[in-house]
Amino acid sequence: MHFNPYGGAAAELAVLLVNAEPERDLADLLRDAGYKPVGTLDADQVAELREWIVRLDAVFTAPGVDVLNELLAATAGVPYISIHDGRAPHLHYAREDAPTDERVKAYTAAGLATLFCEDPARIGRCARPDCAFVFVDTSRNGRRRFCSTRCSTRVHVAEHRTRRGA
Ligand SMILES: [Zn+2]
Ligand SMILES: [Zn+2]
Repeated sequence: MHFNPYGGAAAELAVLLVNAEPERDLADLLRDAGYKPVGTLDADQVAELREWIVRLDAVFTAPGVDVLNELLAATAGVPYISIHDGRAPHLHYAREDAPTDERVKAYTAAGLATLFCEDPARIGRCARPDCAFVFVDTSRNGRRRFCSTRCSTRVHVAEHRTRRGA
């Protein structure tokens, strides 16, 4: 299944793209994320994806119906059910032979839209003031505030110091 609860792997891929360093090789990122098939990315496609990342980033800042519908409208794919590689029937939002940038756009838009419809509060940005990372909250209680335990620990230590007046 590509879409487990909370947008699953597709929403997680949107997180990886938004959190990537600007110089990160996007084909490598897709490969590391287990995205298939990665295919090829030429310079134009990479530029397309970099623009797309800016739009994904905006969703994490202010998740909303309009911004997500604009993303879905920008991906021209027709959804269909796929049973490739012996997998259980699952929805695809772009043809498997479509260019990689188009597939990634359709996949991440659908992932974030799915997550939003299940629980909009699960699309988030790290609450540590100096951190620009985003996350999707797949925890049971849905109260995640930070991108990582590192950021969570730093903020809690700082709060603790403030409380002690140190
Ligand atoms: Zn599939
Ligand atoms: Zn953080």
